[in-house]
Amino acid sequence: MSNNSEQFASDNYSGICPEALEYMLRANQASAPAYGNDEWTQKAADYFRELFEIDCEVFFAFNGTAANSLSLAALCQSYHSVICHETSHIETDECGAPEFTSNGSKLLLAKGENGKLTPETIEAVVTKRSDIHYPKPKVISITQATELGTLYTPEELLGIKEVAKQYNLKIHVDGARFANAVAALNKSPAEITWKSGVDVLCFCGTKNGMALGEAIIFFNKSLAEDFDYRCKQAGQLASKMRFISAPWLGLLETGAWLKNARHANLCAEYLENQLLKIEGVEILFPREANAVFVKLPEQVIHSLKAKNWQFYTFIGVGGVRLMCAWNTTQARIDELIQDIQQAIA
Ligand SMILES: *Cc1c(COP(=O)(O)O)cnc(C)c1O
Repeated sequence: MSNNSEQFASDNYSGICPEALEYMLRANQASAPAYGNDEWTQKAADYFRELFEIDCEVFFAFNGTAANSLSLAALCQSYHSVICHETSHIETDECGAPEFTSNGSKLLLAKGENGKLTPETIEAVVTKRSDIHYPKPKVISITQATELGTLYTPEELLGIKEVAKQYNLKIHVDGARFANAVAALNKSPAEITWKSGVDVLCFCGTKNGMALGEAIIFFNKSLAEDFDYRCKQAGQLASKMRFISAPWLGLLETGAWLKNARHANLCAEYLENQLLKIEGVEILFPREANAVFVKLPEQVIHSLKAKNWQFYTFIGVGGVRLMCAWNTTQARIDELIQDIQQAIA
């Protein structure tokens, strides 16, 4: 097996999808104004407004850590706090960037099955203290699809909207896999964001098929005041912005964002079904988007690693995370399944 075969470690192992690359090449055919004052950036932002059916504010950043951290910082003063799930990326995988970027807004961890916050677990954190010595809760941050590959249903989102309203909290969505969520839920992007009370969404392009690039979308426009300065100060204002915005336009205009997400979700469904046929294999969480978490015997993990299969075992609560992407093939899934079967036998 060659070293550069497709892997299931993460959807960011994938390359650039044809549509994103095509638009990047188109943007390269001439010079254009810098710092986002170009036509590609204008068109991509307009397309997001059309897609979300609302006049929102759109910004671009290089990666998800920056998008999450900067948008949370925009919603908080340093003495505020952000309620998030204990397995959330902002807590476990961003090296303290949200706290650093906000000058100290603390993350308050809440529990919930399958990587999801509930109105009850949010409320428990909010009402735990109300004195001056505790950082004041200001934001609920949810991840859609979650770090454990599950989805918040529209009903669950409405429950969170209610509790946010009750306690005057803003809602932030880490949309590293927002496209996969839209594809799986079969709801409009508007329905599962601003119509469900979401104030800001970090919509990930990288894992959907771009080289790099995230869109930060403020549905609540007043929260975006001076956000461009915040991005610039944090080193997130791309001078050749069009090479982030043009591939975004490529994903949006051609529909590749949904096509890629649907493909990844379908591959994960197929992978799960194949795994379920093997005795001794346990699926850890409901497979709802493009991730499959599976419990494998230690000797199987060793054997797979020896055959150069790459995957993460530290995300969530252990187990092996297998992630599908726009470029996953059934042939590679079949190869993996075969190697698991062999190792178990
Ligand atoms: C990948 C990912 C991000 C963004 O990570 P970066 O490496 O900073 O781009 C954010 N949230 C979740 C849940 C992710 O999986």
